[in-house]
Amino acid sequence: ALDAAWARAWMAGVGRSMADNRERLIDLDRQIGDGDHGENMDRGFAAVEKALSADDAPDTAAGILKTVARTLMSTVGGAAGPLYGTAFLRASKAAPAGAFSAHDVHDVLAAALGGIQARGKAERGDKTMVDAWIPAVEAAGIQAEAGSSPEEALNAAARAAEEGAAATEPLQARKGRASYLGERSIGHLDPGAVSTSLILAQAAEAAR
Ligand code: ADP
Ligand code: MG
Ligand code: MG
Repeated sequence: ALDAAWARAWMAGVGRSMADNRERLIDLDRQIGDGDHGENMDRGFAAVEKALSADDAPDTAAGILKTVARTLMSTVGGAAGPLYGTAFLRASKAAPAGAFSAHDVHDVLAAALGGIQARGKAERGDKTMVDAWIPAVEAAGIQAEAGSSPEEALNAAARAAEEGAAATEPLQARKGRASYLGERSIGHLDPGAVSTSLILAQAAEAAR
């Protein structure tokens, strides 16, 4: 079930994934940004692990997501910190009291995307993390409508995010630091879209 234990396992998985992919994200951000994305994300999710291991850490999915939001906002910095912070804050507000249904999976992902777009104003195709979130939300919506399980909805979302991240390569960046490069941003993956796909891959992994 997608419950508080799942949310904890998800965050533990993201902590490991950001440590494992630190160099890869740094390398991607070095090509079209300032080279700090892997460091920012690894630092942020290491701090999340610490916050969630405190004696008074929350014991509901919504509470856990709120702690994640606060921790990311205060530790990640750059463009990604406030964007992911807002995403997790909106997600915590949309989270159900009990275990997630497939519709909850869609609604929570849609809320996260809404927060990112409210803050960053990026649209589909601007070569940002939004290009991983939009297909994830759409895929979860299709699964929810089809009556799939919450785990299946999450799996579909994770796969769609991975494809969305891969599809940023030929795009020219129109938002964020990479947009300063103009046409030279073409031919590289967007680091934030890749970190989003890693985060959602761990959400699906934790539900297995
Ligand atoms: P910074 O660019 O400040 O160094 P990071 O390197 O941590 O921050 O994060 C860069 C990522 O943030 C980009 O790859 C992109 O996915 C995302 N990003 C930047 N600006 C925006 C925006 N306006 N909307 C959505 N995502 C954005
Ligand atoms: Mg950067
Ligand atoms: Mg930076």
